[in-house]
Amino acid sequence: MLTGEEATDELQQQEAKLEPQAVPAPTWAVGGARKDYLHWDDYFMSVAFLSAMRSKDPSTQVGACIVNPDKRIVGIGYNGFPAGCSDERLPWARAAPNELDTKYPYVCHAEMNAILNKNAADVRGCTIYVALFPCADCAKLIIQSGIAHVVYVSDKYRDAPAFVASRRMLDLAGVRCRRHVSARRRVTIDFGAADAATAEEAGTDGTL
Ligand SMILES: [Zn+2]
Repeated sequence: MLTGEEATDELQQQEAKLEPQAVPAPTWAVGGARKDYLHWDDYFMSVAFLSAMRSKDPSTQVGACIVNPDKRIVGIGYNGFPAGCSDERLPWARAAPNELDTKYPYVCHAEMNAILNKNAADVRGCTIYVALFPCADCAKLIIQSGIAHVVYVSDKYRDAPAFVASRRMLDLAGVRCRRHVSARRRVTIDFGAADAATAEEAGTDGTL
């Protein structure tokens, strides 16, 4: 027979055995991930804006970035003249007595170039990120190529006929359009940061 005290001890030992094993503390610092990383929408829109910087158009630089449902970039483009058509041989003017002396008959918009430059079999179900709401011609390309979503920053030409027609067609075709509203005003690319990071964070063996 166990005394009352011995019985209590045995019970406590059994309870101790039943307690879940403590999870060993991690050997690495947790919770150290950066908080100010780019979110997906900001990231893809930034790629569109970066592409726009390639444009030679002196008045309007527009870029586009197409992303598939797996968040992979499958197309990038910016506005420019068709391949092989020299910038020295065609006009960039917005107005001239003769329309043939303006850029309009010649320029390919960013959306067209992004769709045609795709590195996937097709862009069905994809999202296109673009600074400006697409014009009617680009809306037709977007719809016919199967792009499902348009994300834009500015709709400043919304009352112009080409953009009213664009919205009408995109609505009818069921292409969802939404304005990108970011918590960021700007994204800065600082090439000097690479050297700074190396000096600050490199270990003694030179690894980051
Ligand atoms: Zn367009």
